[in-house]
Amino acid sequence: MNKKRVWKLLEQARKALGLEDSVKLILYPMKYKVASVSLKTKTIRLNKNLLGVFDDETLYYIILHELIHIKTSSLSHGEKFYKNLESLYTIDEIEGIENNIIRKLIERGINTEKWLA
Ligand SMILES: [Zn+2]
Repeated sequence: MNKKRVWKLLEQARKALGLEDSVKLILYPMKYKVASVSLKTKTIRLNKNLLGVFDDETLYYIILHELIHIKTSSLSHGEKFYKNLESLYTIDEIEGIENNIIRKLIERGINTEKWLA
């Protein structure tokens, strides 16, 4: 059930970004990270332990974040990254969603220094 849910979000986010590449998604238990991405294999790893913590809007945002790395072929959060992100969200929306994620991680005692790769 969880897999179907995130798969749907992945497809929606891929379309929103106009990303043609096929992307793999793995649900994986992680200690500190919400998600990570491999540019080489175009695989997103989503923290299995946090699926119940975040609503669909937040999971969508997290998946979208990783997809932008694939689209820009870069792990940096530079100008290209934000150009893509800000084509879909306002700065206020980005701040709101990210603050919400960080708050939920802190509530669970998770170190938030590197919450998203
Ligand atoms: Zn990132």
